[in-house]
Order: sequence, then C-alpha cells, then structure tokens
Amino acid sequence: MISNFIGGQFRAGSGGKSFPDTNPADGSLIDQVSEASQSDVHDAVQSARAALDGPWGRLTLAQRCDMLHAVADAVDRRADDFIAAEIADTGKPHALASHLDIPRGAANFRVFADVVRNVPTECFTGQAPDGKPVLNYALRRPKGVVAVVCPWNLPLLLMTWKVGPALACGNTVVVKPSEETPATATLLGEVMNQVGVPAGVYNVVHGFGPGSAGEFLTTHPGVDAITFTGETSTGAAIMRASAGGIKPVSMELGGKNPAIVFADANLDVVAAGLARSVFENTGQVCLGTERVYVQRPVFDAVVQRLAETARGLRPGRPTDAATNFGPLVSASHQAKVLGYYQLARDEGARVVCGGGVPAMPDALRGGAWIEPTVWTGLAHGSRTAREEIFGPCCAVIPFDTEAEALTLANDTPYGLAASVYTRDIDRAHRFASKLRVGLVWINAWFVRDLRTPFGGSGQSGLGREGGVHSLEFYTELSNVCIKLEPTDAGAAHA
Ligand code: NAD
Repeated sequence: MISNFIGGQFRAGSGGKSFPDTNPADGSLIDQVSEASQSDVHDAVQSARAALDGPWGRLTLAQRCDMLHAVADAVDRRADDFIAAEIADTGKPHALASHLDIPRGAANFRVFADVVRNVPTECFTGQAPDGKPVLNYALRRPKGVVAVVCPWNLPLLLMTWKVGPALACGNTVVVKPSEETPATATLLGEVMNQVGVPAGVYNVVHGFGPGSAGEFLTTHPGVDAITFTGETSTGAAIMRASAGGIKPVSMELGGKNPAIVFADANLDVVAAGLARSVFENTGQVCLGTERVYVQRPVFDAVVQRLAETARGLRPGRPTDAATNFGPLVSASHQAKVLGYYQLARDEGARVVCGGGVPAMPDALRGGAWIEPTVWTGLAHGSRTAREEIFGPCCAVIPFDTEAEALTLANDTPYGLAASVYTRDIDRAHRFASKLRVGLVWINAWFVRDLRTPFGGSGQSGLGREGGVHSLEFYTELSNVCIKLEPTDAGAAHA
C-alpha cells in the first residue's frame, strides 16, 4: 500500500479508501494507494504548522540549506529506487528517468538552497525630514504552510521544483501528487526521515481533485499559499475555490507551444530540436511543441525529417535500454489523445505518419501506447492546432514571411514557450522580443538554467518561479525602517 506521509509518519487514510496505481506500460497493478480523508489533510496542515513554529523555524539559514543539500545527496544515493518508481508510474524510458527526472529532482534542492543562501538584502539609507539618518531594509519571512499540487508528467522533477524553494525559504509543505503518479513523492518522505528533516516539514496526502485531497488541501484555511502545476481549467478551479481566503497562488498551466523554422535554419539542428520537443516523454511535457510553423522553401524537408524521426522511435518495455519511447500515462489520457487523432482527420489533416496505436508484443498490449504522429494540411484555426493535446504529435503549417509567422505564433490564448530556428542573429533577437511567451529558445529546446525565471503568460500561468523569482512567491517581504538618533555619547566616550 502506498501511504500518506503526515508528521513524519506513513499513515493509511482514516476513511479506509484506496485507489489503484497502474503501470501504463502494461496495465498491471503496481499497488493500491491509500486516499487521504479531509481529516487526514487537516492533520497534514496542522503538522506543517507545528513544524513551522517549532524545530524547522528554529534552524539557522545555514543549517536549513545544509539539510537540503543532504536531501539532494540522499536522493542521488537512492537514485535506483526513485528511477524504478518513476518508470513504473509513468512508463517513461529508463534513459529519460535516469538522465532528467531524478537528477533534476535532486538538483532542485541544491540549487534553491544555494540561491537562498546567497541572495542579497535590499537596503537603503536616507534622511528623515529633520535631517536624521534613516535605514530601510527588507526582511524575507517564509509564507508559512504551502500547498503543492502536482501533475503526473514529470512527477519528482516538478514537485521538487516547488518543494525545494519552499523549504529553502523556511516554509513547510503539504504535497498532493497526481493520483496517477503517487510513488516518488512518498519515497521522498523516507529520504526526509533518513536525513533528519523535522517531522511535519514535508507532508504528502494522496487522492484526487474535487471532493478529495486536492480540494480539501487547496480550500483548507490553514494553508498560507498554493503553488500548482497542471491544466489551465484546474488552475482556474483552484483559484476560484481559494479566492475567499485571498491566498497567494502560483500557477504553471497548459500550453500550445509553437516552433518557428526559418528557411535559413540549420536543418540538422531543427531535426534534433523538434525530435525532442515533439516526442520526448511521449509528448507529455508542458514545454513541448505541438505547432510547427515552417517557412515554405524548407517545408517539405522539415516534414520529412520529422516523420523519419517519428518512424525511428522505439516503443518497448521502459526498462529496456533500447526503448526510447514510452506509453502515455494512462488509458484515459490515451483515449483523449486518440480523440484528437480522430479530430485531426475530421478537420482534414493529412496524416504523414502515425495516427493510431502501435502493434505491441502481448506482454505490453494492455498499455496506453500511442503512435508518434505528424500532420500537415490542418488550418491554423482548427481545434487540433489550437487546443493542448499533450501527446506526441504536431501540426506542421507553412508560412511565407516573418510577420506572418509572428502572427501565427502569437495567435493563442496560451503563452508558455516557443522555439525559433534561424541562423540570422538579428532576426532571432527581434523575433524573441515579440513572442508573447514566458520562455523562448533559439535553435534549441529544454536547455535552461534553473536560476532563470520560468512561467507562462496568458492562460499558461500566473507568476514566475526559478532562481530569485521563486523567492518572490515563497517569501513575504517586510520592510523595516529605522530612524537613527545619533547622540554625542559616542563623542563623549572617544
Ligand atoms: P491536472 O490539472 O488534471 O491535475 C494536476 C493536479 O491537480 C493533480 O494532482 C490533480 O489531482 C489536482 N486537481 C485536479 N482538480 C483539482 C481541484 N479541483 N482542486 C485541487 N486539485 C485538483 O493536470 P495533469 O493532467 O496532471 O497534468 C497535465 C497538465 O499539466 C497539462 O495541461 C500540462 O500542460 C500542465 N503542465 C504545466 C506545466 C508548466 O510548468 N506550465 C508543467 C507540467 C504540466
């Protein structure tokens, strides 16, 4: 049984309810997950509050940051356990889990411990109207108990991306992992205990959204701030539900990210970039590309390279070294993506490759497998080209001029990320400055320094996290203003 982790203890939900954790590669049952009741969520929030006002709050900044480094080291030492758990829950290939998810899960603790340790304090000196000196300095206090609600696509990586800075800033957390991927958040509880992180600093409650742990947590009056990653519609529901408490929220939401390929681009770089941004993690990356705009002279070449990449992907058992393409996360997500595959055909797409479910060996036939898919012939305004699918697929659409490409790229309610491929440095800067997104890559994808701002505009999110930007959300600023009263006492003693 996968348990909740409350006040440093692994606990079954008090309501006696559980739900299955399924392996999406073959449909087998991994384990049952114990669902947290409303009173369990309450206990988790109370434990987080007690730790905040108790042992965690009493640590010095240096002690806290050293402890987070120890957490990162312990995750590294148990990397094989984390990798196995992440692979079982998501079906992602071993190479991806071992090179991206788990190392980044550990790095998130180190990076934010170092950022918080080194951040300077704002300080001004001035004069009051009577001419006496005045000193202003800004204090950063933790927000308090932070609710962390996570998706399933990069479970440990995205969860620690929030837990790392929250703890580094002195907060305590209650995490609600996705119901699809409960394992690594639970395993992290063991690591916290091994390292000696005080009980109640890190809590995990399992369950679903509405009427379950997600709603109980985000509407709990003892929560001081909510950080969420997931679908735009869920983000809106959480904002509505939490509005009464005027809670600070950080929202990392959906996207429909464009790649823009100019005719002068290096097509090898384009092919390598698109191969990752369209197909990596079976297209289940918020920053992934689902719209590819290609300047007409290289349109056919880019389509051909994309299709070659798609046909060369090797689905298979995720633990096999040869596998580089996993299943989707669940049968229900597979049904959603297949619904879009049908919609694309209904909207007049030419299916260049894929479009269905691959033939898999008997042992994997119960998995949520999907073919990587490339479409041409879709109108820019079609639903397939406008709505987030979150699968390994893209619509390739031609353009003629830079102005037209900009209009197409920006014509979306989302604004998360974009990739631009060109060898013209002037155009790269000009174009990047006009894209309405939180993140632009030039001739690349998914290379980003963790100290930089991360987040989306429009319906892709609210606020920025990353580096010092995370401090804006995870701390409360208080300005302290002191009027100094110089006396002659010093002179008398001299
Ligand atoms: P989701 O919104 O369905 O679920 C996310 C989490 O919210 C889950 O833990 C779920 O149980 C919980 N939840 C659902 N309804 C809730 C409610 N009413 N109250 C409280 N909690 C609730 O998202 P998902 O399907 O797990 O993840 C995929 C989505 O996440 C995609 O839209 C993707 O673009 C987005 N995403 C965004 C980023 C980013 O950084 N912008 C990163 C990764 C994923």
